[in-house]
Amino acid sequence: MTVTSSPFTATVLGLPRVGPRRELKRATESYWAGRLDAAGLHDVAAALRRRQYDELAAAGIDSVPVGTFSYYDQMLDTAVLLGALPPRVAGIEDPLDRYFAAARGTDTIEPLEMTKWFDTNYHYLVPEIGADTVFSLHADKLLAELAEAIALGVPARPVVIGPITFLKLAKATGGAALNRLDELVPLYRELLRQLAAAGAQWTQIDEPVLVTDLSAAEIELVRSTYAELSAESERPAILVATYFGRPGSTLDALLETGIEGVAVDFTAMAAADVPAVDNKLLVAGVVDGRNVWRTDLDQALATVSGVRASAVAVSTSCSLLHVPYTLAAETGLDDQLRSWLAFGAEKIAEVRLLATALRSGPESVAAELATVRAALDSRRNDPRLADPQVQARLGALGADADRRTPAAERRAGQAEHLHLPVLPTTTIGSYPQTSAIRLARAALRKGEIDQAEYVRRMRAEIAEVIALQEKLGLDVLVHGEPERNDMVQYFAEQLDGFATTESGWVQSYGTRCVRPPILYGDVSRRAPMTVDWISYAQSLTDKPVKGMLTGPVTILAWSFVRDDQPLADSAAQVALAIRDETVDLEAAGIRIIQVDEPALRELLPLRTADQPGYLDWSVRAFRLATSGVADTTQIHTHLCYSEFGEVIDAIAGLDADVTSIEAARSHMEVLDDLNAAGFDLGVGPGVYDIHSPRVPSVDEITAALRSALKAVPAERLWVNPDCGLKTRGAVEVEASLRNMVAAAHAVR
Ligand code: GLN
Ligand code: ZN
Repeated sequence: MTVTSSPFTATVLGLPRVGPRRELKRATESYWAGRLDAAGLHDVAAALRRRQYDELAAAGIDSVPVGTFSYYDQMLDTAVLLGALPPRVAGIEDPLDRYFAAARGTDTIEPLEMTKWFDTNYHYLVPEIGADTVFSLHADKLLAELAEAIALGVPARPVVIGPITFLKLAKATGGAALNRLDELVPLYRELLRQLAAAGAQWTQIDEPVLVTDLSAAEIELVRSTYAELSAESERPAILVATYFGRPGSTLDALLETGIEGVAVDFTAMAAADVPAVDNKLLVAGVVDGRNVWRTDLDQALATVSGVRASAVAVSTSCSLLHVPYTLAAETGLDDQLRSWLAFGAEKIAEVRLLATALRSGPESVAAELATVRAALDSRRNDPRLADPQVQARLGALGADADRRTPAAERRAGQAEHLHLPVLPTTTIGSYPQTSAIRLARAALRKGEIDQAEYVRRMRAEIAEVIALQEKLGLDVLVHGEPERNDMVQYFAEQLDGFATTESGWVQSYGTRCVRPPILYGDVSRRAPMTVDWISYAQSLTDKPVKGMLTGPVTILAWSFVRDDQPLADSAAQVALAIRDETVDLEAAGIRIIQVDEPALRELLPLRTADQPGYLDWSVRAFRLATSGVADTTQIHTHLCYSEFGEVIDAIAGLDADVTSIEAARSHMEVLDDLNAAGFDLGVGPGVYDIHSPRVPSVDEITAALRSALKAVPAERLWVNPDCGLKTRGAVEVEASLRNMVAAAHAVR
């Protein structure tokens, strides 16, 4: 065995890649548009990497992850590494174009499916493994990035996604993907030899799937796989990285093998719960890689000092992919709030500080530790964090947090109040975000138009959308959401307790980035947030206009949340603010209010044992948000998916009068699932798929409705597309909705 690497002391598990100013996004989109060639794109990427390496060197990080850079997604990179791209892209000669075809599709090629990366807001591409997949190793990207880093003098630690995680997250046809593990292990062994030959001292193999519930047989596979990989004689030292939660007994399995290091997420478990790590490096993820809060360094030091291991390195809990680059880019945050925060660059500095304190004693960084203590004190004592009024209201709510009348009785009252035909037609809320809307928003931001002019233009958009819906003959109208940049940020900007950033971009998938708001204090509503827009829309028509709100769970799911109180408490506070809005909408004469919760399933904890608790508080938050209105006011909700799994009982628990769901692609099977769970409320299974520009025919929609009627009685069935229309073009939207209304008439 020739594994002789010495341990390191300070690292991060991975790096963001879009660039602090989203340079890679711009370059990639230019490449797609044909305005930049491949060499130009590679140059932008290389420059971004070099800058990161310089910053890490300057920060004193002594082992640097290499290969976490990606042109689109790390799971797609791993599929390329293992020769597992789907056959349908094989005909594309150019490797980069083949890669992007797998990611985004072409006119004739379907892209890989995309889904959430564990419980983060990052989305990965799901590798497809078929009977005809013949795995083979293609390490060129990783080896090139390794050579580049070594040439720059970087203490490089090449990173790959491990075989267990890769297979568990892949979609396999013909048997469980893990059955193919035997084929992958030799490739990983070969990869280890190549990395050693290229000069790598350490390599990091990411196995985040080890923090999910694995069966005993799977845990045994973890042990045998890493026993076999560590038996390879010519290889770098192996660090197996677990993150996003507690590894549980998979950690014991790893510790039995000959690997040289394990990374553990200490934000998810206490030092005392980590078994003794003999003869291995323990990479202690004490700096949270997923939130934006400054680390309590005293506490982190105590944690790291408390672990039992032959060597310890300080690290972030996971890749820095999930936080913005640097606080330095923010100019709009108040000094207090700013002092509580740590984005990527600040987290790297924290890692370094902790490593120094460990090596040379806390005295050596006394001044820095004092600064941190002062910041944490100022945070704890800030009045914005504890609003007695909010607390008092929550305490006093009790039984008022549910609707008192059973749904069936409410239905009768609402029918009298609303006068809707059977099979009422509606949409999910947004209409196409036209370039006029985007231009108006940009002009307002740049100060070229004032607020009054902006309102005038948005009202014009609303008037058009109302006129269109009247012309098409829809039954329940919407205002179209033109004024919303984003369904979460729009509310966060108007709620006390939330801050928004200027440059806090985080990759959501591919070239798509989001700027999650930061929830830092107790939440309250300064003033009505949507009432003017909705009332204006309602003033233009006699048909009911739905008020549109985002639900508390979704607002939290797409924000950085507080770490100083349970998420359940934050959810209740947001719910209270949304409840106030529903009450004001009702008072303004709005008879139907939709509270969207597309993220209800997203936030579901990874471990089964943690799920009931989550579902309990999330359902309670929704009910709190929606129970302030009269029985005659109809509450709708929208969920963006149809595979309900563990959340099916929760959907009934929401007690929404009408639930719209995605169903067009799953052919109404969802209704059987809902029936099986005893769901007996109103339901609008999407009758066509808005994720494609195709216009569905009247016949198709009629057929979808008829099949829905086999599962759901007509008095509970609604007719709607399966999601909002904001990403679609105006022409196809009009044609599709016309056909939808015609189909509803035909079936009636
Ligand atoms: N009301 C929102 C819209 O129509 C819902 C979007 C969503 O759930 N993702 O855009
Ligand atoms: Zn949706």
